[in-house]
Amino acid sequence: MAGKRVVLVEAGPDDREFSDVRTPVKWLEMHPEITYKHYTEKVWETPRRSGLAEVELGGKVLGGSSSINGMVYLRGAKSVYDKWGWGDLNWEALEDALGPLGTATPTRAAEAFLDAARENFGFEDAKNDDCEFLPDSKGDAFCKRTAQTISPRGHRISSATAFLTDEVRRLPNLRILTKTRALRIEFENDGSVATGVLVEREGKEEIIEARNEVILCAGALLTPQLLLLSGIGPASELESIGIRPRVDLPGVGKNLTSHAVADVLIPLKRRDDGLTEVTNTTTFLDAYAYMYSSFCKAVRCAAPDVALTAAYFPKFRAANGEETARIQALPQGHVAVAASRYGSPKARGTVSLRSADPRDSPKIDPNYLGSAEDVAIILEGMRRIQDIARSAANVFGEPMAFPRPNSTLRETFERTAMTYFHPVGTARMGDDETAVVDFDLRVRGGGGVRNLRVADASVIPLIPNANTNPAAMMIGLKAADLILQDDDDAERKKNACVHNPN
Ligand SMILES: Cc1cc2nc3c(=O)[nH]c(=O)nc-3n(C[C@H](O)[C@H](O)[C@H](O)COP(=O)(O)OP(=O)(O)OC[C@H]3O[C@@H](n4cnc5c(N)ncnc54)[C@H](O)[C@@H]3O)c2cc1C
Repeated sequence: MAGKRVVLVEAGPDDREFSDVRTPVKWLEMHPEITYKHYTEKVWETPRRSGLAEVELGGKVLGGSSSINGMVYLRGAKSVYDKWGWGDLNWEALEDALGPLGTATPTRAAEAFLDAARENFGFEDAKNDDCEFLPDSKGDAFCKRTAQTISPRGHRISSATAFLTDEVRRLPNLRILTKTRALRIEFENDGSVATGVLVEREGKEEIIEARNEVILCAGALLTPQLLLLSGIGPASELESIGIRPRVDLPGVGKNLTSHAVADVLIPLKRRDDGLTEVTNTTTFLDAYAYMYSSFCKAVRCAAPDVALTAAYFPKFRAANGEETARIQALPQGHVAVAASRYGSPKARGTVSLRSADPRDSPKIDPNYLGSAEDVAIILEGMRRIQDIARSAANVFGEPMAFPRPNSTLRETFERTAMTYFHPVGTARMGDDETAVVDFDLRVRGGGGVRNLRVADASVIPLIPNANTNPAAMMIGLKAADLILQDDDDAERKKNACVHNPN
């Protein structure tokens, strides 16, 4: 990067302005000024009164969503990353940069759930941190305690705390502009060579010029918005809202992939002190178990496709007043175990523009119910949770059904399902027609677009069977390597010219 200058543009404030950001337990109570609340298109069939039913959240602060997320650190199965087209990923470099991670200590209730899964359903302990599946192993699932991006001193480790250290912030060639919103990418002579970014800062618009390149890292919900606003996307869609298409890239905003999750609430027979002992140095998440759905077993998939997350989420998940009252009336408390289709979800959603106004929020359709197979798999996970709880009747009461005590599992799903906040794939990496970036993360477009890259979760071609923050940070590191490699290549070419002018 010799001689190069970097301007980092962030819509939200500095994470250091908010001490709560670093305190793990505060993650569910984040300040509205650092949290995007995107209202999505209608997803669920049942009308909801819960505040989180039809929204996607995101961090609007240095560190992005890694400054407000649940801090679970799971890489997921290697077999998924192998299909990305990048070869082996350098997880060691990422984990060195993050430093030692914390490990969640399961509450007694979560521990009892895992024990019952082991003893009565053949769950085995994970063979490795990635929950790899060995097809011939005896059991059909692995259990995993969660690693967490919490330092041994009990502080959140975000991409800002790990990578925007004091030393980095002091670099003379780095300028960080917070509370500055990118509105559009600027192009040379109205062509397709990116030359800068139009931003809004302190109520005024200005252009930040980029001599080398523009790198978009606005996340899977907002990066496609910026590309579309800049005329890069499906041409007919852009024309229909009055934006002149610069490059017809049909894949922009398509392929939105995420994890939907539904809860089973299990009453406890004895109060679990762990539930009340959530301190400033922990989160609410206890333990993960992974299982293989019958769909997955039939095709012998390489990695488990359902995650069962034992957690304590009373405020977060409460569906509505009446249901909250039923939960709160439980004398000994409860454990919530969530089922989510973590491997190869089939449903695909979209991000598109409502209008050509950059201040308008994008139109997000997660389409979680778009695949009957995904729903069947989540229901299978919920059924397994019920069976595991019933097999440990000394610890657990009858799993609760919603909205009424005699509701079906499908009704409970409809009532409790929501997003797990893992959107990816809206500027997918690949070399086919609908890919948005190539394997060097450069925006494609028939050789048209130049000096424009994307480096965030939107490039993920296949969602990991895990939470997505490690993958997003890995993409950042890979982007840094690619940029440095370009610099080396340019330097070599320059030297070759000097030494061999012919
Ligand atoms: C509530 C919640 C809980 C989660 N829990 C976990 C978890 O426990 N474990 C896990 O692994 N993952 C979790 N995730 C997901 C994980 O945090 C994300 O996958 C990851 O942060 C995505 O990184 P990103 O760089 O793609 O985008 P983001 O983290 O979303 O970062 C995008 C950044 O770009 C900025 N930006 C956007 N638009 C503009 C603009 N126009 N101008 C300037 N700046 C802009 C945003 O303000 C933000 O800072 C969670 C996410 C949420 C929201």
